[in-house]
Order: sequence, then structure tokens, then C-alpha cells
Amino acid sequence: MYDVERIRSDFPILAREVNGKPLVYLDNGASAQKPRVVIDAMTRMYEDEYANVHRGLHYLSNIATEKYEAVRGIVARFLGAPDAQEIVFTTGTTEGINLVSYAWAAPRMQAGDEIVLSVLEHHANIVPWHFLRERQGVVLKWVEPEPDGALDPEKVIDAIGPRTKLVAVTQMSNVTGTLVDVAAICRGAKARGVPVLVDGSQGAVHRPVNLAEIGCDFYAITGHKLYGPSGSGAIWISKARMAEMRPFLGGGDMIREVGRDAVTYNVPPMKFEAGTPGIVQQIGMGVALEYLMALGMENVAAHEADLRDYATERFKGLNWLNLQGRAPGKGAIFSFTLQGPAHAHDISTVLDKKGVAVRAGTHCAMPLLDHLGETATCRASFGLYNTHAEVDKLVEALELCHELFA
Ligand code: PLP
Repeated sequence: MYDVERIRSDFPILAREVNGKPLVYLDNGASAQKPRVVIDAMTRMYEDEYANVHRGLHYLSNIATEKYEAVRGIVARFLGAPDAQEIVFTTGTTEGINLVSYAWAAPRMQAGDEIVLSVLEHHANIVPWHFLRERQGVVLKWVEPEPDGALDPEKVIDAIGPRTKLVAVTQMSNVTGTLVDVAAICRGAKARGVPVLVDGSQGAVHRPVNLAEIGCDFYAITGHKLYGPSGSGAIWISKARMAEMRPFLGGGDMIREVGRDAVTYNVPPMKFEAGTPGIVQQIGMGVALEYLMALGMENVAAHEADLRDYATERFKGLNWLNLQGRAPGKGAIFSFTLQGPAHAHDISTVLDKKGVAVRAGTHCAMPLLDHLGETATCRASFGLYNTHAEVDKLVEALELCHELFA
């Protein structure tokens, strides 16, 4: 049974107050809180087992290397990836997508080649492709969402033309919670010989991922949204695509031999990991993923679907609330504004006074906000430890906003 109160007790920060009120943390889409096991494992590492990895032949370096390398296997298990050596460590999704842009896409794209993107994307899955547009004349082809916020996989597949070299899509919108059928997109793209990059930053947090079922070529995750530390992350890259990639950053660890006139590179994945990595961060991410797997991602998904349904029901009575994105099966992420003069920043300030933490702004998704006709929204994003009582507190605080600003 999914015991949310017991789960909450695993997260020390949830016991605190903010502005004299119990914290209601609804900013999980930006970054999730950390369970005690992650905090303790990282502290223990620094207190007891810390050294650089891959370098020393001494006791501590060997322990640190073993623990760090074991995380590749944990990530592979979490994502249903066939081989731990297909996991490249990154500082997060942003670095993962930039790696693909520089190391895979840039060398194989000419002026006029196309990348198909959806309007739902986060800037992390837009700006690295703009670099290729600016530097190499690559064309970005945008696929619009439906009026309810859904992304029609057929429209993405139809956008693929003879010059398309890549499709880059999110699995879940960080603004509206829209879930994208990335497996259908991959099937269509594969039939046309076009690789697919999936931004799993939100998707992997809220439901089980099975890369074998999705069938993409690149899948990026970010540790801090997965209840792990910031500065941790990974990208899964298929063996075939890895073999096509040039190195990204240069430095220690990613080389085999360095001479005055020549250099040879390490084998993947280390070929793409230059310099001292986020050793303790990645180990912390490994513990967070083990924590999630112990809870069971299908249980997390069911809990969050229940929160989504409860919140949707509670919002129904609020006819002054403009909710964005109502696609069926969406995640428990709600973006909204209030009718009347209140700016999203005003709303979030009032909510904060009530202890309710939400995000306000463009959510690093300006093309989507533009499409929605908004300059800013408030976003309440739920996580595995949120409760019905917290939905009620959000609604209470919104009612207060409505009274204040109507
Ligand atoms: N993609 C999506 C859908 C996101 O929600 C985020 C973070 O908000 C990112 C990418 C970027 O993640 P990070 O900043 O951890 O690299």
C-alpha cells in the first residue's frame, strides 16, 4: 500500500514551516525535495569514503569509483536500458541535450537540414538546436499542440521530411503536464530513418520508463527532479548513435593517450565525460533512483494520477481560474492564471504567505507560453509526497487570491 504519510516522513524538509505555515511544496516541476537516504548517503560519502574516481590505486579512490560506476547500472535499470555502458553521466538534461547537439548533430547537419521540435519544449530542448540554426543554417520545424494541450504524434511524424535529421520532443510538458506518446513518434520516425531525442526530465519522474518500448535514440534525465541532488543527471544513448559521436568536452578521463602531436580517446561512455565528475552527486542520484524503484514507479504514477483527479475536481468550482492544458492522461502539473488584474507573480507571492510554494513565470518554455497567449502563469506541480490536504490548501489560498484581486 502507498502510505503517503510514511513517505512524507522520509523527507526532512517537509516538516518545516514557511512564513509561519506548514510547507506545502508544489514546485516539484522545478526541483524535487530529497529523502533522508539521499542526504545521508551523500554525507557518508564525504565523511568516510570520498576521493577522486578512476585515478587512484588507493583504497578510497577504489571505493568511490566502485560506487560511482555502480550508478550507471542503477540508471540503466531505472530506464529499462539494455546496457549500463550506454549511460553517459551529465550535470542534468541541459548538458545531455547540449552533448547531443555538439557531438552528434553538429558534425552531420548541413544548411537546410531540419530538426523537428514541438512547441511544448523546455528551453533546454530548444536553445541547443538554435545554436545549429545560427551557426549552420539548420531549420527548426515546429509542431503545434492541439487546443487541449495534447501533442498529436501523427503531426510530429508528418512534419518529418527528406531533410529531417532529428526529432527532439519532450515526454511530458513541464508547463501543462501534457503527456506525449513518444513511442508512437519513435515508430513513425524510425520508419523514415530519423533518430529521436526524448527529453525525459519530467516524464521519468512521474511514471515508469521502458526505453525498449519507447524506441528512441537519446533519452535525457536530470537528477534533481528525480529526488536526487542538483548537478546530477544522465543521458542514455544507443550504441549505434554513440559510435557516430565525436567527443564533446576535452580533458582528463575522456582520453586514452595524449601526446604533443596527437590524442586518442577513451571508449564510450567515458569518451563523453571529461574532467572530475560530480562524484557524490551521481552517487546521490543512484540512491534516489533506488528509492523510487523501491516505492515502485507504477505506484508513484497511480498516486499522482489520484492527486491530478482530485485537484481537477476541486478546480472545477473555481470559474475564475484559467487552467492551461486539459489533455486526457496528463500529469499532475497545473498552470493557471486568475481572471482579473493579478499577475502570476502576485498570485505566487500570496500563496507563499500561506506556505504554498509554486512557480510563476514562463517556466523556461517561452514558445509554449506565447502559443497559450500568456506572458506568465503560476504552476503547481505535484510530487510523490503530496496529499489531498495540500490540494485543499492550494485551493484555499487561491480563493484568498481571488478575493484580494477580484
Ligand atoms: N526539460 C524539461 C521538460 C524540464 O522541465 C527541465 C527543467 O525544468 C529541463 C529540461 C532542464 O533540466 P535541467 O535544468 O535540470 O538541466
